[in-house]
Parts: sequence; structure tokens; C-alpha cells
Amino acid sequence: MPLLELDNIVVEFPTRRGPLEAVKGLSLDLDEGEILGLVGESGAGKSITGAAITGLIEPPGLIRSGEVRLRGARVDNLPADKMRRIRGKEIGAIFQDPLTSLNPVYTVGEQLIDTMRVHLDLDQKTARQRAIDWLAEVGIPAPEARLDQYPHQFSGGMRQRVVIALALCAEPKLIIADEPTTALDVSVQAQILALLKRLCRENGTAVVLVTHDMGVIAETADRVAVMYAGRLVEIGDVKQVIEEPLHPYTRGLMASIPQIGIRDRRLTQIEGAMPGLRNAAPGCAFAPRCPRAMEHCHSIRPAPQDAGTGQVACHFYGETS
Ligand code: SF4
Ligand code: MG
Repeated sequence: MPLLELDNIVVEFPTRRGPLEAVKGLSLDLDEGEILGLVGESGAGKSITGAAITGLIEPPGLIRSGEVRLRGARVDNLPADKMRRIRGKEIGAIFQDPLTSLNPVYTVGEQLIDTMRVHLDLDQKTARQRAIDWLAEVGIPAPEARLDQYPHQFSGGMRQRVVIALALCAEPKLIIADEPTTALDVSVQAQILALLKRLCRENGTAVVLVTHDMGVIAETADRVAVMYAGRLVEIGDVKQVIEEPLHPYTRGLMASIPQIGIRDRRLTQIEGAMPGLRNAAPGCAFAPRCPRAMEHCHSIRPAPQDAGTGQVACHFYGETS
């Protein structure tokens, strides 16, 4: 059984002008210990997919249909308090801004100790020692002294290390990391990713890594899922998707990756813009930008089909394979 299953989820935000569908029917699986990159342009629905998994869709937004299952059990329909518990214990979260995950009025030690006491049922002394060990594990010098400091006393990179410790200390099976290094200096981004990857490997923790940055995916993920306008357009092993992308959109993304280490590797080099969420045109959402578009691409939506190491949703692939 996969660790995580998304089964045809639709995420909707009601507005005065009618509902906006940010995720339009997305299915994917994640195995234990696997790192899945979720990539796409801003507005493609990747962060909202992450929020749907963690039960953090901002109301009045909601999962309109479909299921999210963790080890086979539904988690999309749980009461808020139950979901909060799962979010601490089974699913950890890391966001772009470490201050979102840290409470400014408690020391980092108090936050680590509290999390472990709640979820692992440890006594104060054991939890304190483990908190020191965690700070050392994520590379914070003088961890014993740092334990009694507040989040604002840490640099951005050090704060994100604390957030990683906090996300992992309850020993979750799954981490949702949304742009975890985007706010950091380029010089520390690679270190933080390497740390996240090493710790998740050692602890057998699976990761959904949400990013707009293909460089980050290439360095970190086992598989990659590419989203466009609320739908999955391609999923497969990272090596295959990077070296032999099957979907025309993914090809455009790959062509737009500059050298690793250059700031702002954004996915904006494909001509044209992604259609807005209100776009209800039939057919393939990428058709207006697609160099391979055929007439029926504008009227018939391509269904995902098995291809390579995963799946691709494109009429062109179907006709040439
Ligand atoms: Fe291009 Fe057609 Fe494939 Fe869409 S379905 S990506 S328009 S070839
Ligand atoms: Mg986002």
C-alpha cells in the first residue's frame, strides 16, 4: 500500500463570481521514504495540493471531491482537531518562510521539547536531550546554548534548520516542504536541501517537495510530478523527466533551466502565460502555448496515460508512441 494516495482531488475556492477550481482532479501515489518533487509555475496548484494533503486549505476553500489517504485511511474528511494531531505526528510541514512554522514567543528548545512531549510521550529530561541532539543533527553550532534562544535570534538559514528539526522530531512518515529554500541565500540553499534529503533518507521519511525550481528537483527528488493549470501533465522518475521529458510543457521547462547556482531559475521562459483558474475551455490547457498543438487539442482534454516510468497527459504522445 502506498504511504500517500491522492485520488482525483478537486480543490475549490468559492468566490462571488462562482467557484474557482485551483486543483482540477489530481491523482498520485507516494511510497514510504520516497522524495517526490511537485513542480510548476506559480498558480499551477502545487502549493494548494500540498495544503490539501496537510489539511491546511484556507476556508472557505475546500476539497470539493476526491480523497486523500494516508496508509489507506482517509484524512481529507477528518475533524480539525484530529487533523491537527495527524499534522504534528504523521505529517510534518516546512514552508518557505521559517517564521510561519515557528512561534516567536517560545524558545526553539521549548518548541522542540513540547512537540516531542505531545507526540512521542517523552518526559521533560529525555525530550530536552533529544532537542539538543536534533539541533546538533541539523548543524546548529553550540546546540545546548542555542536551545534557550528565540527564533529571531537565528539567521534565516539557521531558522530553516530549526524548522527541519521541528518537522522531523515527532518522527513523521511524510513531510510536505513548500519552497523550503526559496527565501534563503543561494549559498545556503544547497546545504539545506542536502540536509533535508539526508535526514529523510536516514529516518525513512517521504517528502513532497513543492517548488518552481527544476534545479532543486534535480538535486533532491526521486520522482517528479509536473503540474499545469491545476492538473498533472507528467509524472515519472526524475532522471527520465529531466533527460527525456515527454510532455511539451515539461520540455519547455527543461529548456529553461539555466546553470545550477544562478538565482531565480524561474519557469517563465515559455512564451505566453498559463490560463487563469476560471478558464473552463475544453481541451488541453497548454494548447495556446504548445508548439505541437493539433486541432483536436483545443477541444478534447488529454487523459493521463502510462508512459516511460510514469504517466503523461498529451495527445501528441499518444499519436507518436
Ligand atoms: Fe500540446 Fe496537444 Fe499535447 Fe496539449 S495535448 S501538450 S496541446 S500536443
Ligand atoms: Mg506556492
